[in-house]
This record gives sequence, C-alpha cells and structure tokens, in this order.
Amino acid sequence: MKRGGPLKRLKQLRRSGFKAKRKGEEKLERSKKLVWRRDDGKCRICKGTFHLQVHHIVPRARGIGWKGLHEPANLVLLCCVCHQGVHDASLPGWEEWLRRRPLS
Ligand SMILES: [Zn+2]
Ligand SMILES: [Zn+2]
Repeated sequence: MKRGGPLKRLKQLRRSGFKAKRKGEEKLERSKKLVWRRDDGKCRICKGTFHLQVHHIVPRARGIGWKGLHEPANLVLLCCVCHQGVHDASLPGWEEWLRRRPLS
C-alpha cells in the first residue's frame, strides 16, 4: 500500500462515482425509450398498460459497474402490479417465463 493521500483518493473515487452515476442515468433514459417501443408500450407479463415502469432484470445493486446494466436487454417494461410482484417474489418463475420469450 502506497503512503499518503488516502483522502484524496477517496475524493477522486467519489467524484468518478458521481460521474458514472449521472452517465448511467442518461443512458437509462435513452434505453427506456427504446424499451417502451420494443415492448409496445405494454407490460411484458400481463400486457396491461397501467402505470408502466422499467424494471432491471439484473438489479442495479448487483450490476454496479457493469456496462450492460442500463442496456435495453437488461430492461423490461412492466405495469406497477407485475413490477411489484416481481420484486416481492409473488410472481415466482417470471424470469423463466421471460427466458422463454426472449427480448428482441
Ligand atoms: Zn403487468
Ligand atoms: Zn424493478
């Protein structure tokens, strides 16, 4: 371990982290539009159109630093009901279901 400047290093890390995050958000916004078009403005699971949200298949928490995180291939359009179901695991097997209907 090199001596000196751990605080500076921490500051650098923080700064680049913020930058990466902002860049990620911009990318996510672009991808969201593509996902809306790809999924035809409908929930992938029930085809509903109520309160649509974009869900990350590989969650953000697990995909930190992964460049595919905000790619359309990692995103699906879900209505808020199905989205909730996916997150609280009351829709078991939905990932398997998604695999059988691959994203275009
Ligand atoms: Zn739905
Ligand atoms: Zn989600």
